Amino acid sequence: MAKNADQVCVVKGWQDAPTVDESTLDDDLSRHFYYTLGRDKVGKSQLYLYHALALTIRDRLVARCRVTKQQIHEQKRRKTAYLSLEFLMGRALGNAILNLDLDEQVAKALQEYCTELEQVAEAEHDAGLGNGGLGRLAACFLDSCASLALPVIGYGIRYEYGMFNQAIENGHQIEQPDNWLREGHPWELSAPEQSKRVKFFGHVESYTDKYGREHRQWLDSQDVLAVPYDVPIPGYKNDIVNTLRLWKSEATDEFDLSEFNAGSYSEAVARKNLAEQITMVLYPNDSSENGKELRLRQQYFLSSASLQDIIDTWVSKHGEEFSDFADYHVFQLNDTHPSIAVAELMRILVDEYELDWQEAWSITTKTMAYTNHTLLPEALEKWSVSLFARLLPRILEIIYEINARFLAEVALAWPGDVEKQRALSLIEEGPEPQIRMAYLAIVGSYSVNGVAALHTELLKAGLFNEFYQLWPEKFNNKTNGVTPRRWLAHCNPELAKLLNQHIGDEWVADFSKVSQLRRLYDDPKFHKQWQAVKHSNKQRLVELVKNRCGVEFDAEMMFDVQVKRIHEYKRQLLNVLHVIHLYDRIRQGDTANIVPRCVLLGGKAAPGYYMAKKIIKLINNVAEVINKDPLAKPYLRVAFLPNYNVTAMETICPATDLSEQISTAGKEASGTGNMKFMMNGALTIGTLDGANIEIRDAVGADNFFLFGARAEQIDDIKAHYNPEQIIHQTDSLYKVMQLLESGHFNLFEPNLFDDIIAAIKSPHDPWLVAHDFASFVEAQEQVEQAYLDTAHWTKMSILNTAASGMFSSDRTISQYSDDIWHLEPLLDTSAQQNTQKKSS
Ligand SMILES: *Cc1c(COP(=O)(O)O)cnc(C)c1O
Repeated sequence: MAKNADQVCVVKGWQDAPTVDESTLDDDLSRHFYYTLGRDKVGKSQLYLYHALALTIRDRLVARCRVTKQQIHEQKRRKTAYLSLEFLMGRALGNAILNLDLDEQVAKALQEYCTELEQVAEAEHDAGLGNGGLGRLAACFLDSCASLALPVIGYGIRYEYGMFNQAIENGHQIEQPDNWLREGHPWELSAPEQSKRVKFFGHVESYTDKYGREHRQWLDSQDVLAVPYDVPIPGYKNDIVNTLRLWKSEATDEFDLSEFNAGSYSEAVARKNLAEQITMVLYPNDSSENGKELRLRQQYFLSSASLQDIIDTWVSKHGEEFSDFADYHVFQLNDTHPSIAVAELMRILVDEYELDWQEAWSITTKTMAYTNHTLLPEALEKWSVSLFARLLPRILEIIYEINARFLAEVALAWPGDVEKQRALSLIEEGPEPQIRMAYLAIVGSYSVNGVAALHTELLKAGLFNEFYQLWPEKFNNKTNGVTPRRWLAHCNPELAKLLNQHIGDEWVADFSKVSQLRRLYDDPKFHKQWQAVKHSNKQRLVELVKNRCGVEFDAEMMFDVQVKRIHEYKRQLLNVLHVIHLYDRIRQGDTANIVPRCVLLGGKAAPGYYMAKKIIKLINNVAEVINKDPLAKPYLRVAFLPNYNVTAMETICPATDLSEQISTAGKEASGTGNMKFMMNGALTIGTLDGANIEIRDAVGADNFFLFGARAEQIDDIKAHYNPEQIIHQTDSLYKVMQLLESGHFNLFEPNLFDDIIAAIKSPHDPWLVAHDFASFVEAQEQVEQAYLDTAHWTKMSILNTAASGMFSSDRTISQYSDDIWHLEPLLDTSAQQNTQKKSS
C-alpha cells in the first residue's frame, strides 16, 4: 500500500548514517562481496574481490567527502575549480588505501580470501583520461590539494574511451580502444539531478528588457545534457576527501520527444548519438592540436557545464548577487584547452544574469587564471571563425566584443602601431580567419603561468612577449611537481620503508624532509640497504619486461630508461642512435669499458603522427637485431615496452638507474617523468631543458650528466646547421649512419627508415639530433665511468632522492595557493574524529 502522499518520510541525517571504520572493514568487504555483488567464489582475476574492496573503501571515502563538503559550504569560503580536459589518474585503489591509512586492515581482511592487495589491485583498469604529462599533472595536483586540505574541485570529462591501448605487432604500433568502463567503475557516484544543459548551434537575437536595456539571447540551440559523475579524491591521512567531477554528455529528453512526435524517429536517434558523441573519446594527441569540431565541442561542453555548476551553487546560496563572487572563486585553466571558459563566463553573467559588460568583465578577469604548457607552435589552438559562427554563435559575438575592447587597450599602449594590433588580435586574419585561444586566455586571466623557470622565461621573452610588456604583473612561474604518495610511498614500498627507518615517516606529508637523507650518503651500511632495494625493484621490472616484451633483462646490468610520449622533440631517436653506437662498439670488439646495460623505451605515438610511429618501428627493429645477437647479450639488451601508462610507470621508475631526459633545449616545458625518476634514486642524463635545469641545480652539477646545446644557442646553430658535415667529422656517428643506411635493421623491409635517415641529415632538422650526438655519447661515457664505481654511484643516487624535495606537487600547489588562489586550508578533522572514536 502506498503511503499518504503528504506523509513525508524523515530520513535520518547523515550524522546518523551507519558508521564505517577500521573495525567494520572485514564485514563490509564480505557484505559487498556476497550481497552487493552476489558472489561466493574468488575467480582467477579477482575482479569481484577488487570491486568489493573498492566499494568498501568508497564507503569510507563517501563518509569523509560529506564532511569535507559540509566544511566547504557551511561558511562562505574561497575555492578553486581546476578545469582540465585531461586527468590521467591511473589506478585508485592502492592510493586510497595508502591515504586512508588502511594497509593493515586491508591486508588482514584479504587473508580470509587467501590473497593480498598487490594481486587484487591488478584487476583495476587505469583511468587513462589523459595523454601524458599534462593530464598526469592534473592528477598529482588533485592529490596534493586534498593532502594540503585545500578546497579545490577538479572538473573534467568522463570519456567513454580513454587513451588508446597500444599493442606492438611486427614492431608497429597498433591502437586498440580503451573500454575502461566495461567492467564498471566502482569509484564514481553519478548525480543526474545536478545535470546542466549546454547549448550548441542556433542563432542570436536582441531583445529589450523592462528598463529599456538591450540584451542578446541565444535561441533555437540544440542542447546537450551534461551529467556529473563524482570521483572522490582522498587527502593523505587528513580525512579530507575532495571531488573530481567528470561530465558525461547525454541527449536531453525533449528533443527526443518532439522529433518522435513529428514522426522522425530515426532523426531523433541520430541526434541522441550526436549528443552522446561529445564525451565518447579522448583525443590522443599530445602537444599538437587537431582542429576537429568535436574537440571544440568537448572544450565548450566542459567549460560551460563546470561554470554553470559553480554559478548555480552560488545563486542557490546567495541569490543573483555577484558583487563579491570574485572574492570566493578561482578558475584555473589547465592549458589552453578550456580557455573558452573566459567567454562562457561572460555569456552566463551578461546574458543569463543581465550584468553589464564592465561588471562581468571585472569578475571574469579576477577569477580566471591560465597555465600554459607548451612553446610548440603546433600545439597552440586556433579555431576558425566560421566554425564558431555555426557551433557557438553567441560565444563568437562575445569574443569579438572582448577583442574590440582589448585592441583599444593595445592602441593606447602602442599608438598608431597597426602591426601590433594585427599581431595581438584574438582574431588571426587570413583567407580563413582563426581565433587564437591562448590569447583569449591571457586577456581574460589575472594570472598566466609557465611550468618551469626556463619555460616561463621563454614565454615572457618570446611567444607572449607583447602581452608581458602590457601586463608584466600577470606572469609568474610554477614549476611542476609530482605527488610523493603515488610516486614514492605507493610505488616503491621498499624504499619507503627504508626511509621510514632512517628519517621517520614525516616525508610522506612533508616531502622537504627527504633532505634528511643527505646525512646518510656516505654510510656503507646504508649503501648496502639502498642497493638491495634498487636490486629488488629491478627484479620486478625484469618480470614485467619478460612478460610484456619477451626480452630477458638482467638486474645485474645498468637500467637505462626513456619512457614518455613518442615525439621528435623528446628525441627517442637520439637514444636509439646511441644504442646503435654501443652495438657497433660491441661488434668491433671495443668492449673493455662497456658497462652492461638494459635499455628500456616506451611510449605512445599519436595515431596520425607518421614520424613518431616510424621511430617506434625503428626501436623495435634495433631491439630485435641486438637481442638476438649472442655477441651483444653480455653487454646490451633493448626492449620497447608496449602500452606505457601510469601503472607501468609505477614499476618502471623505482627500478631505473639512468633517466633519459634528452629533449632539444627549449622544447620541453617542464617534464614530470624526470621528477619521478629522481625521487626514486635514478640519475639523470639530460639537456638544459624544462625542469631538468632545476633538478641539476638542486642536486648539484656533479650528480647530473649534462650534454647538448643550450636553449639560447639553438637559433645560431640552426642558422649554419650542416648535419652531413657533422656525420663526416664524427667517426662514431658516421658508423651509426652507415649501419642504418646499409639496412642492417630492416634487411627484409627495404627503405623502411629512409625518412628517419633523411630527417637526421636535413639541414632543417628542428631537433638537432646530429648536433647533440657527440655530446650525448660523451655524457654516456661519463655515466659508464660513474657506474663502475658502485659506492660513487650509490652516493649520487641517494643525493638525487635527497634533493628531490622541491619536486613534490605539494610544493607546487602551495605556491599556486599562496600566489594565485589565496585559499585557506580546511580543518584537518582527523584529530577530532579520532578523539570521538576513542571516547565512544
Ligand atoms: C609522468 C608521466 C608522463 C610525463 O612524462 P614526461 O617524461 O614528463 O613526458 C607521461 N605519461 C605517464 C603515464 C606518466 O606517468
